[in-house]
Amino acid sequence: MRKNLRAFFEQTFSCAPLFVARAPGRIEFVGNHTDYNGGQVLGAAINRHVWVALAPRRDGRRRLVSAAGGDVVTLPNGGEKKQRGEKSWANYPLGVLVALRAFGRRVPAGFDLAVMSDLPAGAGLSSSAALEVASALVFLAAVGEWDVPPEAVAEIARHAENNFVGVPCGLLDQAVSCLGRRGRLVLVDCAGPRFSTVPLPAGARFWIFNTHAKHALVEGLYAARHRECRSAARALGGPLLAAVTPAILAANRDKLSLLLFRRASHVVGEVARVNATITALQVGNLATAGKWLSASHRSSKRLFENSTTELDFLAARLARTPHVFGARLTGGGFGGAVLALASPKFSAAQARAVVAAYGNKFGTAPDVLRLRAAGGAALVRD
Ligand code: ADP
Ligand code: MG
Repeated sequence: MRKNLRAFFEQTFSCAPLFVARAPGRIEFVGNHTDYNGGQVLGAAINRHVWVALAPRRDGRRRLVSAAGGDVVTLPNGGEKKQRGEKSWANYPLGVLVALRAFGRRVPAGFDLAVMSDLPAGAGLSSSAALEVASALVFLAAVGEWDVPPEAVAEIARHAENNFVGVPCGLLDQAVSCLGRRGRLVLVDCAGPRFSTVPLPAGARFWIFNTHAKHALVEGLYAARHRECRSAARALGGPLLAAVTPAILAANRDKLSLLLFRRASHVVGEVARVNATITALQVGNLATAGKWLSASHRSSKRLFENSTTELDFLAARLARTPHVFGARLTGGGFGGAVLALASPKFSAAQARAVVAAYGNKFGTAPDVLRLRAAGGAALVRD
């Protein structure tokens, strides 16, 4: 990938990049929509990355290109003019520049920047955060900031997504991309935020089934859930739902509409499931951890209503397949991918059988990715 990116950069800009960074995508292991509710969430960085290469320019011009397609986006006089239509992908790196300044950091005035990736976009594997984080690392390197703590890079990247791109995501995606550790899950406690890692038992394997089916209104739906959670928390007397215990929720049921009660039940339940999953992993019990993952999916389906028919089919089918411990939608939902936590005995032939069954029902085939828990984002030396 590094060589291909270099060649693509040179072909586009007729010069060599000076700084290259790569940032991993992530899976949300368990803890669905808990992050912006101030709760805990377990994720893992994965061995699929967005790569960003940059060369500073003296004339203040900014040019951005992606190997995923589209023309070069040019800002002749610098600045961070918000892009629309097929150029809107450039808002992720441009948003990072705005965020860096908001955090009191310097940014390079002019630059050429190229992106290349083996991480599917829009699959719930957080290519947006990976693009932000890798961009932040090359921008910081270009002003001589080589060792900004990963926690700070995560905050900057999230600021870009929240305030410039306009997606009210929590800290999970960026934190896991920055803090991933090989063979480990990252636990993000968004109340702090505090970060730690949890070792994955040796017999854990990740399989991702990406449906490519995505609800057309996904951004609006995500924002609507965000609002519903805030309203439920306010009605229960607190700013954030994650602080609500199951007992408080049960005692205050009459303060919530049925809809808000269901949303709150999902978040409160997810917080408990994250803790129960950690306990199971600490004693190496993947079967129990998998049950919590499948329970998380059912809660998404019934209570939070952020699943789809396609995701429900895959999660249910996988959960009853031998050698699969559990399965759930991963990421924001309303489309995207299902994660299966499986044993090493789960085979490619079994995965193909699931794909075939899906094809019979929906007429399309999900992509299958076999992933492992990988390390976090880093500058790459040439
Ligand atoms: P996810 O983060 O789950 O992949 P999002 O909708 O949040 O889904 O982010 C996907 C968006 O990120 C794409 O529509 C595109 O704008 C941007 N993006 C991701 N990967 C790339 C890439 N390789 N090149 C250009 N833009 C990318
Ligand atoms: Mg995203």
